[in-house]
Amino acid sequence: MTRQADRLAILRGMKAAEKLHRDLGSRQLMDGSVRVDVYDAIKRSGAMLMFKPLDPLLGAFMREGGLQGIIVTVRRGVGVQRFTAGHELGHLILDHQPHADDDRILRRAPVEGNYSKVPKEEREADAFASNFLLPKFLLSKLHQQQNWTIGDYENPITMYQASLRFGVSYTATLLAYERDNVITRTKRESLARVQPKAIKEQLIKDHRVDDWRNRDVWHLTERDEGTVVEADRADLFVLNLKQHGGSGYFWTFDELQKAGFLVLKDTTESLYPERVGSISQRLILGEAPNLDDGSYTLRESRPWQATESVNSITVHYRRSIGRENGLYTPQLDAVD
Ligand SMILES: [Zn+2]
Repeated sequence: MTRQADRLAILRGMKAAEKLHRDLGSRQLMDGSVRVDVYDAIKRSGAMLMFKPLDPLLGAFMREGGLQGIIVTVRRGVGVQRFTAGHELGHLILDHQPHADDDRILRRAPVEGNYSKVPKEEREADAFASNFLLPKFLLSKLHQQQNWTIGDYENPITMYQASLRFGVSYTATLLAYERDNVITRTKRESLARVQPKAIKEQLIKDHRVDDWRNRDVWHLTERDEGTVVEADRADLFVLNLKQHGGSGYFWTFDELQKAGFLVLKDTTESLYPERVGSISQRLILGEAPNLDDGSYTLRESRPWQATESVNSITVHYRRSIGRENGLYTPQLDAVD
């Protein structure tokens, strides 16, 4: 493939993703979230969506008679599932032939000059998936939410946290930042050498986890105020909050705990030990296997004045979808 053909395929996939976002009104719909609802987009396209234990295939796009369908495996993590769904939606939107995909879609990069022997339809679907799940407007929305600086894009922890919020893999996230020239190819390659498992272990410090499959670690701070956290049942959470203990203010998590959040570890570290009454860092490690979807507010208040908080953070929690076999739940009614 020539560079010119590469560029045209990438452009076609990108334009189709941008058009679909316009048609869906995504910018207006997404509130505090940066996670594109790819499953809802499939539903709106009129195709049936099924989750099945495919292996080694990741997904497939089918067309028979007047009917279109997309299948996504349940055997992989949320990020891979969602990227596969985006790729198959690309085949549908771009009017491609029915087709099944394996994990090569995860290793390819919709970046110019990288696509020597990949069929044109695959390049278009890859570019569609990248630009639909990681559009430029969401990259900049997350940048603003998190108040990141250029240096943050060189930190594997930040890039991994970005991938959780977008709901795609660490690799796909790095590729999108390279695509939009936020990081160079060399930088992307060096970040890609860091394994997500090592990042997760760094985040939970001395806590031990034996099985990291389909399990992520969310690092939540004051900057996640008003955002949407869409997590998997087995995910862990590190709440990292500045606490004004010297003035008698402490974070409380009652609302969250009542709803099923389990605190595994609770520590406070002084940020400036030499100063009396200064700010410290409260670190909570927790898990939420049974937490209900909803909005939860954490408050920093004085124990004797619990109703008056000096700081509060509200996060909107949702359980990730697509982990169970069968027809996509919102489509179940349609076939009754
Ligand atoms: Zn494909």
